[in-house]
Amino acid sequence: MNILVINCGSSSLKFQLINAETEQLIAKGLCERIGIEGSKISYTPAGGSKEEKETPMENHTDAIRMVIEALTNEKTGVVKSLEEIGAVGHRIVHGGEKFAEAAILNEEVLSAIAECNDLAPLHNPANLIGINACRKLMPDTPMVGVFDTAFHQTMPAKAYMYGLPYEYYEKYKVRRYGFHGTSHSYVSKRAAEVLGKNYEDLKIIVCHLGNGASVSAVKNGKCVDTSMGLTPLEGLIMGTRSGDIDPAIMEFIAHKENKTIEEVISVLNKKSGVLGLSGNLSSDFRDIEEGYHAGNEKAVLAMEAFAYRVAKYIGAYVAAMNGVDVICFTAGVGENGPLVRRMICDNYLGYLGINLDEEANNRRGEDISITTPDSRVIVMTVPTNEELAIARETYRLVR
Ligand code: AMP
Repeated sequence: MNILVINCGSSSLKFQLINAETEQLIAKGLCERIGIEGSKISYTPAGGSKEEKETPMENHTDAIRMVIEALTNEKTGVVKSLEEIGAVGHRIVHGGEKFAEAAILNEEVLSAIAECNDLAPLHNPANLIGINACRKLMPDTPMVGVFDTAFHQTMPAKAYMYGLPYEYYEKYKVRRYGFHGTSHSYVSKRAAEVLGKNYEDLKIIVCHLGNGASVSAVKNGKCVDTSMGLTPLEGLIMGTRSGDIDPAIMEFIAHKENKTIEEVISVLNKKSGVLGLSGNLSSDFRDIEEGYHAGNEKAVLAMEAFAYRVAKYIGAYVAAMNGVDVICFTAGVGENGPLVRRMICDNYLGYLGINLDEEANNRRGEDISITTPDSRVIVMTVPTNEELAIARETYRLVR
């Protein structure tokens, strides 16, 4: 069965067509600037070359129409008709407390997702628009929602509750939810598989270090803690997001800079992280790394603060699980950044008996251990594949 995986943002739509039995990628692409002037679609069939086309897309229905057109195109398409697409898997950012696993999208599930909109006002409405556009054009194809928050629903209350008046949880469901769950789940399972060990016997820490970044503690196959919270702003220092700060800074800066709470939150989301720390050098870790090597003081500070925060979370999660067997690095920086991995492991994790294998640490894009055989804790790089994880979940529910 071919599964179409859709990841829909407010003005973009990423897609992949995956053969669920062989797990091979058949085609992938991206629609950008939906509803904005200059919208375009890029499309790459597996083994073929990438095509880009500027074409007006007023809304997400237009975008899905273009995706279907690309996939079924006589010359460069990969399927003859929509009938060759067995199901659609949609990435959904926030499932609140309602979804501890993926769900077939029916009216009841869709209204439960809409009820989570105020927990993720930037993401969930866009996800729903994509789902509705898809349902309009593919009314007979089963659809599944896969939630970023679902994997973290196994956290105990002591990990997900904030030290706030209890009534905020009762009235508004203010608590830690965590994000990137599809990636944390995929990577932790994959690590066990690669090591030939039983997933349920391991204590694993997954460091998903991309533009957005989070850490999770996975004990005996279940997530017991994670660094992102009610929203994806908490935790690590990220590309543009601050991660943990003293909450009183919000009021302090609002007064000093004459800003509203919304404006301060926007600074914390869009102008902070390594971008802010580096004095606006860049949010891209490749640029920060270049600045680090060139001796740019603020780039050095951004790299050091980033690595230090990751190391502190690893320490916290070793305590949370009373030990650790495997630490995994994944996502853009985690998979491709030997310097960041070395800064974290060599500077802070010696007490765990970790010995990095320099040669392995310099490799990229492989599911491998990057520690020497005598290392007491295994550190690995495990490339994440959220689309494949969504396709697997979708297939599991519809076959
Ligand atoms: P993601 O959000 O997972 O796509 O990750 C994006 C981040 O990964 C960006 O900050 C990129 O700069 C970073 N990244 C990608 N390739 C490399 C690389 N070769 N070295 C360091 N960082 C990289």
